[in-house]
Amino acid sequence: MSASSSHPIRTVEDLLAYALAMETEAAERYEELADQMEVHHNQEVAQLFRKMAAIEGRHSDHMQELARGMELPEIAPWDYQWPGAESPEAIDPQDLHYRIPPARAIALALRHERRAAAFYRQLAQDAQRDDVRRTAEEFAVEEEEHVRWLEQWLTRYPPAEPGWEEDPDPPNQPD
Ligand code: ZN
Repeated sequence: MSASSSHPIRTVEDLLAYALAMETEAAERYEELADQMEVHHNQEVAQLFRKMAAIEGRHSDHMQELARGMELPEIAPWDYQWPGAESPEAIDPQDLHYRIPPARAIALALRHERRAAAFYRQLAQDAQRDDVRRTAEEFAVEEEEHVRWLEQWLTRYPPAEPGWEEDPDPPNQPD
């Protein structure tokens, strides 16, 4: 893979290809996290992530609609130019401890939703074309709604107690 094949965002079609990759990955990741939380009987956080998966799923449905009739570029996974190593919205499963308390899980989701909003804001700012700027702004506003929604959720839970990672009865512990 050469750096020269990387695919920058110039047109609305490019933007939609990026946005769809990002939202689909975010929705899938939230589902995976929900499954993971269920395995560990953390129902509260599991339900929260299911809700986020549904929201991101609706977001990508909306983008699919916008893309109808357009020919989107096919971009290989390594040719996306994300600000970091991965798409900004997807949570790294390694960041998720199975005992993660709701407040920490929400804070983690919040961090990624903020990154997604910032990603679209930056695109809008850098856009050379009006249609790209408008669409990126629209997506930024939607992500900022997710941010506000998660911020409200966060107020419903007490902050995580220090030492929450320590399991008094760890699974699969050899003795
Ligand atoms: Zn979002």
